[in-house]
Amino acid sequence: MSTAPQLSVVMPIYNEQEALPRTVERLRPILDALGVGYEVVGVDDGSTDATPVLMQKIRQDWPEFRVIRLARNSGHQAALKAGLDRAHGDYVVSLDADLQDPPEKIPEMLALAREQELDIVYGVRGDRTSDSSFKRRSAGAYYWLMRKLVGKRMPSQAGDYRLLSRAAVDALKALPEHQPVYRLLVPWLGFPSGEVVYVREERVAGTTHYPLGKMVRLALDSIVNFSAAPLRLATWLGLLSFAVCLVMSVYTAVAFAVGATVPGWSSLFMGMLFLGAVQLICVGLLGEYTARIYSAVQARPAYFVGYDSVDDERRDNSR
Ligand code: UDP
Ligand code: MG
Repeated sequence: MSTAPQLSVVMPIYNEQEALPRTVERLRPILDALGVGYEVVGVDDGSTDATPVLMQKIRQDWPEFRVIRLARNSGHQAALKAGLDRAHGDYVVSLDADLQDPPEKIPEMLALAREQELDIVYGVRGDRTSDSSFKRRSAGAYYWLMRKLVGKRMPSQAGDYRLLSRAAVDALKALPEHQPVYRLLVPWLGFPSGEVVYVREERVAGTTHYPLGKMVRLALDSIVNFSAAPLRLATWLGLLSFAVCLVMSVYTAVAFAVGATVPGWSSLFMGMLFLGAVQLICVGLLGEYTARIYSAVQARPAYFVGYDSVDDERRDNSR
């Protein structure tokens, strides 16, 4: 590609051999009809099924489809980072490969960004009835908490389907974070933004790669990434325990003065358990932050690129 495309569509892809052909089938006519130069950056996140073969096949009759293969599975956010880091477009849309984010909204996002000169257009899920009630509830709690941390700039129910301008992408690339949580970092930028509402559809094929464990991880990462409040929680819990201890001491002393003793194996044991729990939670919290500091100090990159169809070809030609 000699001139930079106006639009890049970044798609993290992990073991999507069933979904990918259908995604491509729906995505291509939409992009072709846009009438702007575009590239689709398919980031293969170390898939172990037929996805890599499939991507090469797609590329053969779709020259705008660019293939980036990560050396190993690095996770959704890391794959997204790889795509954003390497996308060339003036605008970059990030999209899941399982058609849960309808690609029909891309023209709308692009038009909105251009008309109102926006740097960010969020895809906001208007209706999540296709998700399980547990997923909806946990997502509700997550967004409530995140809005407290990042502030009102964060639209609730905005996932990773969004459009970013070149300026926003460059701002994100300049951040030294190695494990970015984009759905928090993007609103945190504070750039002019708009929203496009869409209905989150059912996955066309395959199963989610976000089981409960990974959801908890994402939530913890998000909190630890954006707030030191949990660390202060330790201080408050300590003060609270101290206050309770003072009251109890006075009570015990008074009881003793009037010649009584305070009975209580149960209360003793409850107190011990409570303090034990508080201490372990606080140590755990410290551990979460220390682990982040540790990995920040190690500064290992979030991903390694094994192959990039555009860059590798350019290198071959110049040889
Ligand atoms: N994905 C990825 N690496 C992973 C897990 C997922 O690149 O380790 C991709 C996946 O192929 C999909 C997107 O990230 O395009 C979102 O994942 P998924 O649909 O499993 O998550 P959910 O929509 O259920 O939250
Ligand atoms: Mg999905």
